Amino acid sequence: MSHTIAAISTGSQVSAIGIVRLTGDDCIAVCDRVFSLQSGKTLADIPDRKLMLGALHDKQGRTVDQCMAVVSRGPHSYTGEDTVEFHCHGSPAVLAAALESLYLAGAKPARRGEFTKRAFLNGKLDLTQAEAVIDLIEADTADAAANAAGQVGGILQKKLAPIYDDLTNLCSHFHAVLDYPDEDIEDFALENYSALLRKNAKALYALLQTYGQGRILRQGVAAAIVGKPNVGKSSLLNALAGYDRVIVTDIPGTTRDTVEETVMLGHTRLRLIDTAGIRETGDQVEAMGIQRSKEAVENADLVLFVCDGSQPLTQEDQDIIDLCLECENAIALVNKSDLGAQVAPGDLPFLAVISICAKTGQGLDQLADMVDTLFEGESPCDGSILTNARQFDACRRAYEAMLRCMQGMQLGLTPDAVLTDVEEAMQAMGEVTGATVREDITARIFERFCVGK
Ligand code: GDP
Repeated sequence: MSHTIAAISTGSQVSAIGIVRLTGDDCIAVCDRVFSLQSGKTLADIPDRKLMLGALHDKQGRTVDQCMAVVSRGPHSYTGEDTVEFHCHGSPAVLAAALESLYLAGAKPARRGEFTKRAFLNGKLDLTQAEAVIDLIEADTADAAANAAGQVGGILQKKLAPIYDDLTNLCSHFHAVLDYPDEDIEDFALENYSALLRKNAKALYALLQTYGQGRILRQGVAAAIVGKPNVGKSSLLNALAGYDRVIVTDIPGTTRDTVEETVMLGHTRLRLIDTAGIRETGDQVEAMGIQRSKEAVENADLVLFVCDGSQPLTQEDQDIIDLCLECENAIALVNKSDLGAQVAPGDLPFLAVISICAKTGQGLDQLADMVDTLFEGESPCDGSILTNARQFDACRRAYEAMLRCMQGMQLGLTPDAVLTDVEEAMQAMGEVTGATVREDITARIFERFCVGK
C-alpha cells in the first residue's frame, strides 16, 4: 500500500490557475474528507478524467477555494496509482491553504520527483523516459523540448530495446544449451551471432555519436570571445545579450574576470564566455590572462576571435590567432567597421571572416547565420539524440563490452568467456533503462526533480 502524497505542481508565482496534485492508494478518500462536489456526489463516485466543480475546505470548514477536481484511477494514471488534481485559483496563499488542509486530511508532503519516481517504480515509465521528464521541464529551446518530449514518448527506449533483446536471446540460447543438455535445442555456435553483434554495436555507436549534438542541445554552444584588449569583446557580448552585461570603457583591460552569458543567436543557444582583460600591465598578470584565454579556447565549441578592423593587426593579434586556430570552429570578427578598414579578410586564416560593428549591431545577422550552419545538428530533435551524461556513459560501457566480445570471438575464445562481456553490455544497458540500475542512483536521479513532479 503506497501512502498518499500531495504537492503543489505549478510554480510559486501568482498565476490564473495553480494545481495541487495527490497520488496514493487512498488519495480519493483523503480528498473526499475536505472537498465537496457541487453536485453533492463524492470523488469516489465520479468518473475518471472529468473536471468537476466543488469547494475545498480547511479544518474549520471554511472554504479555501472554489476549484475543479479531476480523478485518474490507477493503473491508468501518471503514477500508476489513484491520483487527484485540484485546479485552484493560482494564488500562493490559496495553494498553501489547500495543501495544508489536504495534509490534515491524511496526505503527506511529496518529496522531490516522487510522482515520477512512483511512475517509474510502477512500470509506467522507464528511466530514459523519467529522466526526459526533467529535461522537458528544464528545456529552454524548442529543439531541446522536442527531443525531451520524444524521449518521454519512449523513442530512446525503442532504440535500446531491440539491442537488449538480441543480447538476451544470445545469452539465453547459450544457457539453455548448457543447462538442458538433453533437450532438443539447436547447438550454440558463437559465430552464428557475430553478424547480430556487429549490427547492434553499430546501432549503439550511432547513438553514441549523437551525444555531441545532445550536449550542445542541453547546455548550449560554449563560445569563447577572444582578442586583445579594447577591440570590442565586451561590446560584442553586450550587443548579443541585448543589454549591458559588461562595463565597456576605452581603457584597455577593464574587464578582469571571465564573464558568461547565455544568449540565443539565430536558432542556436550560445554560452558566451568573454575573456576580456586578457592582458593587464605586469608580466605575471599578462601570463594569467593568456592562460585563461587558452583554457577558454580549449573548452570552447566555438571561438569568436575579435580584432579592431580600424587598426592594422599586431603581433599580439597574431599570437591570439594562433591560439584560436586550435579550436575546430573559429570565426574572425573584424570589429569597428564604422571606423574604416585596415584589416583585409585574407589576413585572417579562419573558417569565416565577418565584418561587424558591435556598436550598431551591423554584421551580427551574418554571424547568426554562420553559427546556425555550423551547429545545425545532423540528427532530428525527435528524441533520438542522447543528451544525458549518465546514459551516455552507460551506453559507452555497453558498446565497449560488445567490442571486447567481438574481439574475443575473433580470437577464438570460448563462449563462456565471450558471454561475460555480453552480460556486462546488458548490465550497462539496463542501467540506461533502469532495469538494472542501483537504488542509490535512481534516488539521486529523482532528487534532481522539483517537488510536485
Ligand atoms: P574589450 O576590451 O575588447 O572588451 O573592448 P570593449 O568592448 O571594452 O571596447 C573598447 C572600446 O571600443 C570602447 O570604447 C567601445 O565603445 C569601443 N568599441 C567597441 N566596439 C566598437 C565599434 O563597433 N565601433 C566603434 N567605433 N567603437 C567600438
